[in-house]
Amino acid sequence: MPNQDLTIAATFEGQKNFFASGKTLALTVRKTQLKKLKELLQANEERLYEAVYADFCKSKFDTYTTEIAILYQEIDEAISHLSSWAKTQKVSTNWVNFPAKSFVMKEPLGVSLIIGAWNYPYQLLLAPAIAAISAGCSAVLKPSEQASASSALMAELINQHFDPGLLRVIEGGISETTELLTLPWNKIFFTGSVRVGRIVYEAAAKNLVPVTLELGGKSPAVITEDCNLNMTVKRLVWAKYLNAGQTCIAPDYVMVHQNIAEDFINAMRKEIKKESFSIENGNYVQIINNHNLTRLSRLLENEHAAIGGSIDEKARVIEPTVLYPSSFQSKAMQEEIFGPILPVIVYDQLETVVDQINEAPKPLAAYIFTSKATTQDYFLTKVSFGGGAVNDAIMHISNSALPFGGIGNSGIGAYRGKAGFDCFSHAKSILQKSTLIELNLKYYPHTPGKLNWIRRILKMS
Ligand code: NAD
Repeated sequence: MPNQDLTIAATFEGQKNFFASGKTLALTVRKTQLKKLKELLQANEERLYEAVYADFCKSKFDTYTTEIAILYQEIDEAISHLSSWAKTQKVSTNWVNFPAKSFVMKEPLGVSLIIGAWNYPYQLLLAPAIAAISAGCSAVLKPSEQASASSALMAELINQHFDPGLLRVIEGGISETTELLTLPWNKIFFTGSVRVGRIVYEAAAKNLVPVTLELGGKSPAVITEDCNLNMTVKRLVWAKYLNAGQTCIAPDYVMVHQNIAEDFINAMRKEIKKESFSIENGNYVQIINNHNLTRLSRLLENEHAAIGGSIDEKARVIEPTVLYPSSFQSKAMQEEIFGPILPVIVYDQLETVVDQINEAPKPLAAYIFTSKATTQDYFLTKVSFGGGAVNDAIMHISNSALPFGGIGNSGIGAYRGKAGFDCFSHAKSILQKSTLIELNLKYYPHTPGKLNWIRRILKMS
């Protein structure tokens, strides 16, 4: 199936040689390549929209706002800030080393493998690629085979316009990725499920390759009694049903205070109706494949859908659905949902909610809707999660000043903006000694007098 004129082994060797030649290093070259990528995307925007529409009927509006605009922003930011990000940083020197200078250099990690997920096919593959180019690395990009039209288009565009030594798309599924993972990369950046994240981490360990794992999980949204209910529901509905819930940081489930639970459900019903989610309206998408459609439809078996619940198998569409009242024992609470189904669990005490979230694997995102600063502080300090928002959901990803990544089961490392540059860089620490003088204290013979001096000096540092 994949159309590849270079083998995986030849691509890897080519990138190793290209990187070793130093061609990726100059900041001017990195900026030129980033600019070229932006121009390539701009020139092919319509084709990018068509391909992702062919994959799962995602609209031009959503593709621009959730994928293309983010890529342009990442490129522009990298071009403007690259010089300062890449600059060698002077740091202080301790007395023991006097006279000397100390500094930290930013060294590109080298030949990188970037593996993407299908749900935001352009953003999830190319945002790490932008970070890799910025840091002076080369990269092989492996898009998800599940979004096959987007994957084929990225392969066509990148492989026609970039030197394969710098950037190369290798299409394929499990067998191609398995082969790629056997190679001694200098960096692996993976976006996808926890299950495959484990496979990637194990393979990387064999060659001691540093990894960034951008994984998933069950991200909670907690709706307190004192929230602004209308605003909460408006933002929550948008965040949950964007991309039909196929978003790694979509609110996976809701915990709502018992005193406002009924009002919350009624407001959700109204808001979902008002939004009229449909593919024709351009604010809804298909479930990516039949496998996921079947998986999601099983989550609805024996559950009470207070809103929605119908499935159009032929069209691969599931109506925006709210399961209420739900519980931690329900089927939908046993795995990451990754679809337009929202279990709503009622709570009484926030302390119990915090304990319940903390008992589960650490989520990629968490959201608290409250008007009280004390509640906000309590939640943010007590619950461990990758990142999130107060009184909103998903939108934290739009701010590239916020490093994006998980913790524990939801991932290792972070990227976006400067965090992306750092993710593909090694901080090389250098002590630069003067040859003018040398304190002889560390050399033999080790006398009590020398030890006294060492104690005095170390107190000073
Ligand atoms: P996935 O793990 O099935 O696939 C991701 C990539 O791994 C694909 O490129 C695929 O070809 C490859 N792959 C699949 N099986 C493999 C195997 N056995 N060996 C080697 N490679 C394999 O994930 P997906 O279905 O594409 O995406 C959904 C998951 O990704 C969800 O869990 C979601 O939360 C997560 N996700 C995370 C982020 C994030 O930024 N943290 C973003 C998007 C999606």
